[in-house]
Amino acid sequence: MNIQKNLMRCGALLAAVLALAPSALAADAETASVPAVQLIPAVRTVQTDWRLLLVNPWNTVPEGYEIQLATLSNGLQVDERIYDDLDDMLTDCREAGLSPIVCSAYRTEATQTRLYRNKVARVRASGVPEDQVEAEAARWVAKPGTSEHQTGLALDIVAASYQILDEKQEDTAEQKWLMENSWKYGFILRYPSEKSDITGIGYEPWHYRYVGKAAAAEIYRTGVCLEEYLGRAVLPAAELTPARPARAAEAPAVRPLEPVSSAASV
Ligand SMILES: [Zn+2]
Repeated sequence: MNIQKNLMRCGALLAAVLALAPSALAADAETASVPAVQLIPAVRTVQTDWRLLLVNPWNTVPEGYEIQLATLSNGLQVDERIYDDLDDMLTDCREAGLSPIVCSAYRTEATQTRLYRNKVARVRASGVPEDQVEAEAARWVAKPGTSEHQTGLALDIVAASYQILDEKQEDTAEQKWLMENSWKYGFILRYPSEKSDITGIGYEPWHYRYVGKAAAAEIYRTGVCLEEYLGRAVLPAAELTPARPARAAEAPAVRPLEPVSSAASV
């Protein structure tokens, strides 16, 4: 079993290497006859690939989307197909002397609805005109059906020493390690600071999305966001740009009720 897993890892690593340095491997018998530029669209056109499911303000979670969940040791859940890679990533992060904590993972439609309604209520109470309440709330908490957390493929990871969801999160050693290394395990930083007009979501230096190792390596290498990688960043600019920068499109600053030990997060 371990041997098989290691073989699979080698295959994934090879895929990552191919994506990173196709020209360096031009002598390889299998790739020599195929120009590197033709390898990428072939990946992107696999619309049925569950790892590349696009969920954003303009693409909702598919009707009846079903996933099998795996439960982390802190009780949160993810799509079971990403569990091993997530476990590997967090284990290696800890072995580097760091303390990552998964503070949000899979959310049901009901949970997302509750978060969104709570935000609507807070916005209404703040005196925002009624016809602007929902739009204002959606800038901070994703409307039900448009949150990646409903797919089980996304998770929020914070540093044990700084568990607030704001831009200072990027200064922690944990985020620096994750931003530099998460692609090796199939994860991408989903909402980079310079891509908000395309993703529709503000900078979130804690939200990671599983896309598989080959896609993650390509996205990391080229500096694109998922919409660009999938060739889906085609909406009119007026539709793409939020009226006001949305710094956090989901739950505002959240602290777990009680500290979670680093060993307990997966
Ligand atoms: Zn998130």
